[in-house]
Amino acid sequence: MSVPGFERNAWQRWFLWLLLAMLVLALLGTVVWLAGRHEVEQAQAVLDRDTTDAVADLRVSLQRNIQSLRALRLPAQNEGQAGNGGDAQTLQGDAAWPPEAAALMREHREMVRLERRDAGLVPLAVLETPYRTRIFDKVTRGSEQNDVALACTAAHKLAAPAYSPSHYVPMLEGGGIELLELCVPIDGGYLVATYGLRDMLTELLGPTLARGQEVAFAEPDGTRLAIIGVRRRAGTRIFTSQQLVDLPGFTLILRVDGWRAAPDLFPNLLTALVTAISIALVSVLVLLARDTRRRLKAEFELAETLAFRKAMEDSVITGLRARDLRGRLTYVNPAFCEMVGFSAEELMAGPGHRDAPGMPEAPYWPTELAHEYQQRQAHRLAGGMPPREGFESIFMRKDGSRFPVLIFEAPLLNAQRVQTGWMSAFIDLSEQRRIEELSRASQERLQASARLATVGEMASLLSHELTQPLAAIASYASGSLNLLEGGADQGSADKGVAIEIHSEIAMAVRRIAEQADRAGQVIRSVHDFVRRRDRTREPVAPRALIDAVLPLVQLQARKVGVRIDIALQDPLPAVLCDRTLVEQVLLNLARNGMQAMDLPEFVDRVLTLRVILGGGSGGGGYGSNHGGARAAEGRRWVEFSVADVGIGISRDVEERLFTPFFTTRPDGMGLGLSLCRTVVEQHGGVLVYAPHRPRGTVFRFTLPAA
Ligand code: ADP
Repeated sequence: MSVPGFERNAWQRWFLWLLLAMLVLALLGTVVWLAGRHEVEQAQAVLDRDTTDAVADLRVSLQRNIQSLRALRLPAQNEGQAGNGGDAQTLQGDAAWPPEAAALMREHREMVRLERRDAGLVPLAVLETPYRTRIFDKVTRGSEQNDVALACTAAHKLAAPAYSPSHYVPMLEGGGIELLELCVPIDGGYLVATYGLRDMLTELLGPTLARGQEVAFAEPDGTRLAIIGVRRRAGTRIFTSQQLVDLPGFTLILRVDGWRAAPDLFPNLLTALVTAISIALVSVLVLLARDTRRRLKAEFELAETLAFRKAMEDSVITGLRARDLRGRLTYVNPAFCEMVGFSAEELMAGPGHRDAPGMPEAPYWPTELAHEYQQRQAHRLAGGMPPREGFESIFMRKDGSRFPVLIFEAPLLNAQRVQTGWMSAFIDLSEQRRIEELSRASQERLQASARLATVGEMASLLSHELTQPLAAIASYASGSLNLLEGGADQGSADKGVAIEIHSEIAMAVRRIAEQADRAGQVIRSVHDFVRRRDRTREPVAPRALIDAVLPLVQLQARKVGVRIDIALQDPLPAVLCDRTLVEQVLLNLARNGMQAMDLPEFVDRVLTLRVILGGGSGGGGYGSNHGGARAAEGRRWVEFSVADVGIGISRDVEERLFTPFFTTRPDGMGLGLSLCRTVVEQHGGVLVYAPHRPRGTVFRFTLPAA
């Protein structure tokens, strides 16, 4: 079963979930990327700041060096020595320098050589750093002389210290060194300090910068002149910062390369936090999705169950109604609406409608019974339990017609087993009643025809019975005539004879009247039997029932030669019955009994009619193994029995005894016993039979005492 609209909704929901997941992922990606970028920018900014600081430090250091150089108290120049262009070490020994110069050189490892030159740039004295082997073999320095000249010319022009462009000097023991000349003008000459670029980096910047980064001096075109620091590792990300070091006479670039792991997903706490939150978010999303899926499944199942329930409720033909504890309708099914002809809305109209004065509480209550129903409802709401087997009631359709219903009511319990109202089921009994009525009518017609048939059978008995009084009447009449004629012949002279004749005639006429009365009685008894009487149950004395059928029974008894024995217990209560029907039963049973004895071999023919107060209760006084025995407890029963001493009932007759139209007589109809049983059971009693000792059969039936 598929619920309409469910699939489309499911698609819509899936699409929304997908969108949500994509948005969350995009958000997370952006946040992580931003955090990473922020981290990179941070690192770059730190590096830039460090580099700027380093350049400033460098300037300060160089400036201090210049000051230190200027502060050297150099001894006066020896002109004679200066003219001699021999070996510097021999010409100008350490004596040419004050002791602070040597200390300066020891302290400032970046300076590899200190020269003192005269105004014509002729070297006067040289001091080498104690940390290196000699770089220049000659004091004159050959080609490097140009760099010194450049620096000193600039210094001369500026009247301030100036630097030369850097230059590369190959070393004696292999390799080379990049050098930078500083020319400081002093009295009557210059002080030329030679810086090793690499040493400058190591000494002036190393302590602050070199750790974890690569620091280099480069030319503006990018050529690196000197490098210190760690070499770049593979798979790392490089941050580069460059700063111009603008020295008088020369411009350098300080380049710092920092690095860090390139695919750094958790560059810092922030990113880690963001990632953790993202993971939590995604997990929650997944859990939510799973929960939603489960809920969807449950929803789907619930919808299916509901649809099934609804289909069930809609298709049952039993009307269903639920009421709350205040007696208000909370639910009606379509069958109920159809039954009463009101729509569900009309039935469940608001309280304002139903509480209107003069309106019955439920529109399907017949106006004349509304009061009684109101009481019934009040009793129910007060906690009175309805009968389990249901009860009958009358409801009213919208068109005003009344119809019988069978109602089953039960408390409505919720999941906590607490009563929340009442649930009722209704069965429309109209059709059942119609069928019952039909069968009752046909039953009645059948009984009437059976009675007529009985009368037909009795016609011969009747004619036989009537011949006697009629013959008597005829003979009395002719006797009277004779007397009258004889009297006329003798004349009226003899007064005494006339009086005698007169009294005899009067006697004959009286006899005639008696016989006519007797014939009339016979005819009346038949007429009484055939006449339709009202079909009502009334208390009737058992004796009256016997008396009513006795004349008819005796008609046949006389013909067959049967003695009728009647035994009635005294006292007896009246029985509650339809007397016409019960008389018919008695007559049928009596006739059957007499017919069973109408055989030449039976000499002593007795039919015993007995009425006693039946014992026991339930089952019409015979236990409940016989059908139709639905008698209430404690009822009293009156038992009628008809016993014959006839042929009895054989096995094969027994099997079909109560089957309609079963008969062993050529002129029988076979309806007698089946009708008898129906009548007795309609009265709540039971009809049974048993062999009669020593011969024959006894039929017994019970009727409720009034
Ligand atoms: P009918 O009297 O028209 O035959 P019943 O239904 O009254 O129809 O009886 C059916 C048959 O039951 C009779 O034909 C008869 O064979 C048998 N029967 C009824 N009562 C007795 C009885 N008292 N003794 C023997 N047989 C009986």
